[in-house]
Amino acid sequence: MILYNKNQNDIIEAYELDMVFENKPINRLTTKLKVEDKYSQLNILREKIQNLKNCELKDNAKKFVFNDGDPNSKIMIIGEGPGKMEDEMGKPFVGDAGKLLDKMFKAINISRDKIYITNVVNYRPPNNRKPEASEIIKYSFFLKKHIEIINPKIVILLGSTAMEALLGSNMKITKERGNWLEIKINNKSFKTMITFHPAYLLRQPNQKKYSWEDLKKIRKEIDISNIKI
Ligand code: URA
Repeated sequence: MILYNKNQNDIIEAYELDMVFENKPINRLTTKLKVEDKYSQLNILREKIQNLKNCELKDNAKKFVFNDGDPNSKIMIIGEGPGKMEDEMGKPFVGDAGKLLDKMFKAINISRDKIYITNVVNYRPPNNRKPEASEIIKYSFFLKKHIEIINPKIVILLGSTAMEALLGSNMKITKERGNWLEIKINNKSFKTMITFHPAYLLRQPNQKKYSWEDLKKIRKEIDISNIKI
């Protein structure tokens, strides 16, 4: 595409950008989103994803699956993408993996309604296939915006797709899980832990002991840093 004869709206649309910088001073004192801004920003993000064009995932899914839980939570959980049940109900983590997720958090005294839950991709991949690398890259743009809006104190990445979306494809989950990492989005750092996906734990129950170690570390961090949940 030749950019010099395109207008700003074409460029915004072509690159799915948020905005082109305006010639206005930046208000550097505005650091925290007001609660109503958070809800309206989530609605804008929701609409942007729903307006995606040429997306095989969107074209084959029944429902758009965006979020569940408390948008003001300090704990944000990121899974891979909706499965069959989620696609029927339009809500993340409502099937068997979701039931295990609820139990995992209950085990560290956190109920599901106190956390915020989303996925890398918001539409069920055909036949529950893993999202392709190009889909992960495309949706990670929205996911990063999502994290910025929620502004959590802790981000928990469930499984390798969430890890890939935010940290790239060179990491091995077996090596990286259970460690505290930082992800940087627009110069802001978010404390992050990768842990096994509950669907994987359902297939490999002998790995639950590692998941439990990770959950205890998450609880410890919440307590030490006095994170209100
Ligand atoms: N697995 C996921 O990664 N997300 C869901 O919402 C359900 C199952």
